Amino acid sequence: MISTPEHDFDAIVIGGGPAGCAAATVLAKKGRRVAILEKQPRRRYSVGESLIPFCYDALERMGLSGALEKQRFSFPKHSVQFASQEGKVSRSFYFFQHTDHPRAKTWQVVRSEFDKLLRDNAEECGVQFFEQTRARELIFGERCEVQGVRANDPAGYELTFKAPVTIDATGRDTFSQSRLGWRVPDKKLRKMAIWTYFEGATRDEGYDEGTTTIAYLPNKGWFWNIPLPDDRVSVGLVADKDYLFGETKDLETIFNREVEKQDWLRGRLEDARRTDDFRVTSDFSYRSKHCASDGLVLIGDAFSFLDPVFSSGVYFALTSGVLAADAVDEALTAGDTSAARFAEYGEAFKKQMEPMRKLVYAFYDDHFSFGKFLKEHPDLRPQVTDVLIGDLEKDYDDFFKVMGEFADLPEPLPHGEPIGADTTHSEHA
Ligand SMILES: Cc1cc2nc3c(=O)[nH]c(=O)nc-3n(C[C@H](O)[C@H](O)[C@H](O)COP(=O)(O)OP(=O)(O)OC[C@H]3O[C@@H](n4cnc5c(N)ncnc54)[C@H](O)[C@@H]3O)c2cc1C
Repeated sequence: MISTPEHDFDAIVIGGGPAGCAAATVLAKKGRRVAILEKQPRRRYSVGESLIPFCYDALERMGLSGALEKQRFSFPKHSVQFASQEGKVSRSFYFFQHTDHPRAKTWQVVRSEFDKLLRDNAEECGVQFFEQTRARELIFGERCEVQGVRANDPAGYELTFKAPVTIDATGRDTFSQSRLGWRVPDKKLRKMAIWTYFEGATRDEGYDEGTTTIAYLPNKGWFWNIPLPDDRVSVGLVADKDYLFGETKDLETIFNREVEKQDWLRGRLEDARRTDDFRVTSDFSYRSKHCASDGLVLIGDAFSFLDPVFSSGVYFALTSGVLAADAVDEALTAGDTSAARFAEYGEAFKKQMEPMRKLVYAFYDDHFSFGKFLKEHPDLRPQVTDVLIGDLEKDYDDFFKVMGEFADLPEPLPHGEPIGADTTHSEHA
């Protein structure tokens, strides 16, 4: 292996998805010298096409709040709706009925293009983007503090990146969590997803054309229906592994079997043509035992992944990237990038995840239905919408007290604090 000279930065970001781009861009805008290491080419496929309104705020920090207007890869999304197995469609949750802020209009995006926009923008803001550069290992100092990353470029050269802080934004690859033994699964949320793309499916008109529909299946399985530009639609199926794969492993057979059970979706796809292969992934939710250690911060899916039923992943990725960047900038100014500096960041991110996690648990509760809940408590509809749009800094204690009478809701996860030199190092071994 040939080595090249060291590269020195203020911060190294591993992973150029939404989380990594958000963190790197905000830091670069503050004048910091930042590198992103991304193992894939600049334009790469990713699932996760439906944004929620509060993505707006992080995009604004990145200088991109108006950037999704008139892009070929984005389609306006004004609402979310639910379809029963028998084909009955709920009243839409329209975002503009809720707020007259520009964020009321959000987007369905082709992720390869959306992520490329974020990467190009990061570069324009001064970030050095190393594509097809795979991080291999963290570099530890004598006190177990992270001092940087060793990586490989596409030609096989070993590159050494040094910085007072490394930001892990490697998504569900969970680079640091896996190496440090920090991964803690959310045992109740163990799902699988199978998805593909169609052209020529029936679409609604006007404001409803870009609506995300969550279409129910038996045993709390569900389909997503996400309209994309160019008459394409992303259709995915999420359910328990045993339920999906009990009879056969063939993805097409399973997908078509479930479409047959979903009256609304079956009607939509009647004249549609499939344009892509079937894709499959496990959708298991998890959260890292720690959000940071000395010289290391975890963001986006590299810290925590929540079941995608309410399309919250990109929101959490962008928002955690911005929150972490602010904490890193302050730490760099103070000349102290020890773990304790990232406690507030971890607290803020965890606090935002809990209301969404509770709503996800309610969704999967066998005895709970949003329809019945809102029939008894129509006054609480605005709070449901607040959580769905990502307005997650609010206090939802009273709301979830009421919902807790209808569904089995989880306690907040106890883990996710930073771990530093003043606590045990045994986990770094
Ligand atoms: C089935 C499914 C459906 C989903 N639907 C939605 C949805 O509709 N809406 C939504 O908001 N979210 C959705 N999500 C979640 C969403 O995809 C993620 O939450 C979001 O992409 C997380 O962004 P990120 O930047 O943290 O990670 P990613 O987008 O995964 O980016 C991580 C990047 O790190 C790079 N990387 C990994 N390891 C290394 C390494 N060693 N060296 C260098 N680079 C590395 C990867 O190549 C990748 O580009 C869905 C997820 C799943 C599984």
